[in-house]
Amino acid sequence: MRLILLGPPGAGKGTQAQHLVAKHGIVQLSTGDMLRAAVAAGTSVGLRAKGIMDRGELVPDEVVVAIIADRIGQNDAKRGFVLDGFPRTVPQAEALDRLLAERGLKLDGVIQLKVDEGILLKRIETRVAEMTARGEKLRADDNPDVLMGRLAAYRAQTAPLAGYYARKGMLKSVDGMAPIGDVTAAIDRLLSPAGPVKAKLTIKPATKPTRRKAKSAKAKGRAKKPRSKASARRAPSRRSKGRKSGRKARRAGRSKNKSGQVKSRTRRRLTKAR
Ligand code: AMP
Repeated sequence: MRLILLGPPGAGKGTQAQHLVAKHGIVQLSTGDMLRAAVAAGTSVGLRAKGIMDRGELVPDEVVVAIIADRIGQNDAKRGFVLDGFPRTVPQAEALDRLLAERGLKLDGVIQLKVDEGILLKRIETRVAEMTARGEKLRADDNPDVLMGRLAAYRAQTAPLAGYYARKGMLKSVDGMAPIGDVTAAIDRLLSPAGPVKAKLTIKPATKPTRRKAKSAKAKGRAKKPRSKASARRAPSRRSKGRKSGRKARRAGRSKNKSGQVKSRTRRRLTKAR
């Protein structure tokens, strides 16, 4: 199994990588650890990288790509690996694609740990305070100022990798803010052969559709288009308007008695007969 863990510094990539190592019998390849080892050993790479790392900037692509090219060729990486902190730029990702293709290898997935940067900063400040209280040695770049620079480098240079791998259909994301065990479980589910458990589909019980009685052709012809209440209020229909005005005209033309009242129908008939 060959995986990449993606996420800003402090997102928990190292912790999750260790779990994957134990579960899948693969090796963790952390470029940060390798560079720190090079700095400690005083190698030429270490000497070149030290100042850059202390400032929270990124070591040049060709340096880390050379380290990884050498490391994935070693025996213990044959069963697979989880890359932690590499690639960190799009050119590094492209170089990795080439390295794997040359060896006939392929990636199984890229897991992104999604985190809230504000909370992340607090987490790291707490971790630094706790380590200091215990008298433990801090990493040179483990202070809030340098961390701000590392986060800025992540946003500018590493975050675009999510899009790079998403376009290849390889990106899988988990909530990195969840408790460690939950993040581990979420990653395991993503990597399980069955894939992530799909949300259960709620299927509505089938109800018999109510059938309308088919109208006869005659009834259909008679059917009037109902007028909406609003339009009925606005204006009387043309037909009822005509009916009303005709009635009015007829009433006006009727003969009236002395007091000006319209004569009853019988009286009108009698007057006519006379
Ligand atoms: P990390 O332990 O992964 O946070 O890395 C510590 C430091 O090592 C980073 O802040 C960088 O200066 C350097 N580094 C690690 N990995 C890379 C990489 N893939 N590309 C460039 N610089 C790196």
